[in-house]
Amino acid sequence: MIVEPSAELIDYTDDPEMNVAVAARLCYSEKGNQEIRESLDEKKKADLIKKILDLGHYSTLEHTFFSFHIVCSRVTSHQLVRQRVGVAYSQRSQRYVKEDNFNYIIPPKIKSKGPEAVAVFKDHYEKSRETYNKLLDKGIPPEDARFVLPAVKTNLIASYNARSLYHLFSLRCCTRAQWEVREIARSMLEQVRAVAPLLFSKAGSDCEAKGICPEGDLSCGRIANFDNLNGDKNG
Ligand SMILES: Cc1cc2nc3c(=O)[nH]c(=O)nc-3n(C[C@H](O)[C@H](O)[C@H](O)COP(=O)(O)OP(=O)(O)OC[C@H]3O[C@@H](n4cnc5c(N)ncnc54)[C@H](O)[C@@H]3O)c2cc1C
Repeated sequence: MIVEPSAELIDYTDDPEMNVAVAARLCYSEKGNQEIRESLDEKKKADLIKKILDLGHYSTLEHTFFSFHIVCSRVTSHQLVRQRVGVAYSQRSQRYVKEDNFNYIIPPKIKSKGPEAVAVFKDHYEKSRETYNKLLDKGIPPEDARFVLPAVKTNLIASYNARSLYHLFSLRCCTRAQWEVREIARSMLEQVRAVAPLLFSKAGSDCEAKGICPEGDLSCGRIANFDNLNGDKNG
């Protein structure tokens, strides 16, 4: 079956912004957790979050967590798991779960090329399925039969602290990132912003969040447009 990539926010720290605000206040206060918590109304909490984001006091963002169920190709799971710090992964095993009924994702550029390109792509996946199943029938274990599999769909649970999400968004929301990982990162950003809008008010690709582009000659040029649109930065 053909599927679409997705990321679903499945759990997160209760009142994620409060946890961060308490941690930030605690650094400069004689009070403890409970007293600080009770002293922070919505306005004070918002002011604190804004201050730590402006100051770059990002270690306080590590006190709050967000878990996602991600459905993507193995092309993209490989990119996601390169991020090592402040994140935990559990991914469906190809040793213990047979892939005889695997699903897969068709890249948009192949779809937009028309039915002939789609047919070539599908044909490859279906032939791989056939070979994989033939190997299983011969008693080859899934951990070895999987060597013939292309980038089939996989499922992961990935849990990040807010600081590591900032890092993910800066790398993968960028137009230079590959389309599937970018779509997933964008969807994750939208979902965490819905539950913690202040906390993620400065998150996104570097051009969106900081008004800079680290890509040099490889830049997509968007920063120039961004500057022009905002009219408040030197391009
Ligand atoms: C557009 C794009 C293209 C890419 N192309 C390639 C490619 O062609 N080939 C390739 O191999 N990868 C590629 N990558 C992956 C990239 O190199 C990183 O592995 C990945 O983005 C994870 O980033 P990270 O290491 O900063 O994250 P994390 O592992 O989460 O690390 C976060 C930060 O912690 C610090 N840190 C972590 N580990 C160490 C350590 N051992 N020592 C010192 N400091 C550490 C660093 O400051 C690091 O930035 C690409 C990524 C992007 C976004």
